[in-house]
Amino acid sequence: MAKPKAHINQILCLACGGCISVCPQDAITMNGRKAFLEKTKCISCGICINTCPVGAIDLEGKK
Ligand code: SF4
Ligand code: SF4
Repeated sequence: MAKPKAHINQILCLACGGCISVCPQDAITMNGRKAFLEKTKCISCGICINTCPVGAIDLEGKK
């Protein structure tokens, strides 16, 4: 089974940019006023999840 990829809750995201600066894969960019995740680049390291101040990021399928 493929590893779950990070997923950003667009409603919770404050566009603080924290996840963008920590992602080792540069998988996250700012799309307008929300963080946008390019799933093909994500290696499921989880760093962005621990960085987000509002808990807007989780790994898909882990809820
Ligand atoms: S889980 Fe890791 S690779 Fe994937 S978006 Fe977050 S920081 Fe980047
Ligand atoms: S760290 Fe969280 S609130 Fe900040 S840009 Fe990323 S997803 Fe949005």
